[in-house]
Amino acid sequence: MSFSSLNLDTRLLASLNAAGYDQPTPIQTAAIPVLLTGKDIMAGAQTGTGKTAAFALPILHRLLAIREDNPLRSDEVQPLRALVLTPTRELAQQVYKSFVKYSGDIGLSSAIAYGGVSINPQVDALAEGVDVLVATPGRLLDLMQKQAISLSQLKFLVFDEADRMLDMGFIIDIQRILKRVPSDRQTMLFSATFNDEIFTLSKNILKEPELIEVDARNTTAAKVEQMVYVVDEDRKRELTSFMIGSKNWQQVLIFVRTKQGADDLAKEMCKDGIKTQSIHGDKSQGARERALEEFKQGKVRALVATDVAARGLDIQQLQYVINYELPYIAEDYIHRIGRTGRAGLEGLAVSLMCMGEEYLLEEIEAVLDDRVPQSWFPGYEPDLTKPVAKNKKNSRSAQKSRQKDRAYGIKTGNRSSANKGANNRSGGRNKRR
Ligand code: AMP
Repeated sequence: MSFSSLNLDTRLLASLNAAGYDQPTPIQTAAIPVLLTGKDIMAGAQTGTGKTAAFALPILHRLLAIREDNPLRSDEVQPLRALVLTPTRELAQQVYKSFVKYSGDIGLSSAIAYGGVSINPQVDALAEGVDVLVATPGRLLDLMQKQAISLSQLKFLVFDEADRMLDMGFIIDIQRILKRVPSDRQTMLFSATFNDEIFTLSKNILKEPELIEVDARNTTAAKVEQMVYVVDEDRKRELTSFMIGSKNWQQVLIFVRTKQGADDLAKEMCKDGIKTQSIHGDKSQGARERALEEFKQGKVRALVATDVAARGLDIQQLQYVINYELPYIAEDYIHRIGRTGRAGLEGLAVSLMCMGEEYLLEEIEAVLDDRVPQSWFPGYEPDLTKPVAKNKKNSRSAQKSRQKDRAYGIKTGNRSSANKGANNRSGGRNKRR
C-alpha cells in the first residue's frame, strides 16, 4: 500500500514525500479512506502509531477541496474549519507540528492554543484567521469567553487521546464546547483505550461512526519488548543507573508516580554520572520544553517524567522506557510504554517491581490480556529474607498518592483482583516461569 493509492491531494503527497514517509501505517491505511468519505470514526490507536497523520491528512485534503469550492474573498477572514482537542499542551504541540509539517506550502494555516502561557499571542493568531486550531479544552473555553474565536463554521472536530481527556476531568469542558459546535460536522475520536465512559461520550458526539482498530484494544505496540525486574525498593536507583550505564542506553524515558519522586531520582542519577532531568507539572512550560529539547538532542541522557507530563511526547527513535514505579492505573502502563516502539521502531520497556506490588502487575496484565516476563537482574536479586511490604493499595502512602492523583485530575478507577499474590514472596516469579 502506498500513500498515492489513498487518493490524497497530490500537494499532500509531496509533503509526505518531503517528510520521508514511504508508506502509510496501519491506522492511516484504515482511517484515511473512511474519513475521506466524510464519515465519523472512533479509532483505537495510541500515540506512536501514526494516528496524527491518520486524521490530519484527510482533514487537510478536504480543507483544500472546500477552499477550491469557496475561495476566500480578499476582505474575508478565514473561518475556523477544523478543531483538534488534546488533553495536554505537549500533545497539542505535537499535533500542531504535524499539521504544519503536512500543510507547509499548500496555503492552509494552523494555530495552537494551550494554557500556562499568555493568551494574547493566541488571540492575535486567531484574529488573522486560521483553518485549523489545535487546543486544550480549558484554553479553548477561555478563548471562546473572550470571543476570540467562533466555532460556527467548524466542519471537522477531533478528540485526540479522548480517554486521557476524560481521565483528566475535561468532560464538563467538552460538553460546553460541544454546545457551540455545529451539528453538521465530521467528528473523529481517537483513544488508546476504550471503556464505558468513552462509549458514552462517543454516543453523544459521533453519528453512526465506523469503528477502526488497528491494534487489539488495550494492547501495546507489537514491537515493544517488555520485561519486569523484581528488585528491592532501596536498590532501584542503583539498578536504573547501572542498566543505563552498563548497556550504554541513550535517551531513556523513566516514569515515576510523583513530581517529588521525579526530582529526587533525577538528582540522584546525576550523582551516578547519568545526565538526567525531570519533567512534571510543577515545572514551567519553558523548563519542560528545554528539558525535552536537550533530551531530544542527546545532551541529557535520561528524562524522568510523571504520567501527565509525558503525555503526547513524541521523541523520534526513543528506544528505552523504564517504569521506575509501576503505575496505579493499569492503562497508564500502555500510555507509558507507547512512548517507545513508535512508527515501527523497536523498543524496550523495563519495569521495576518490588515484592508486594504483584497486584499492580496483575492489573496491567489483565488490561494487556498478556503476561509480561519477569526476572531478577543479576547482582540485584531481591533479598528474600526481608519482610514483604504490605499490599500498598490500601496503605496510607498509596491513599495519599491517589489523593494527589485526584488533585491533579487523574482518575483512580476500581481495582479488581487487587490483592492476589500480594504476599507471594517469590515476587510471582516462580508461577510465571
Ligand atoms: P503519531 O502516532 O501520530 O504521534 O506519530 C508517531 C510518529 O510517527 C511521528 O513522529 C510521525 O512523524 C511518524 N509517522 C507518522 N506516519 C508515518 C509514516 N507513514 N511513515 C513514517 N513515519 C510516520
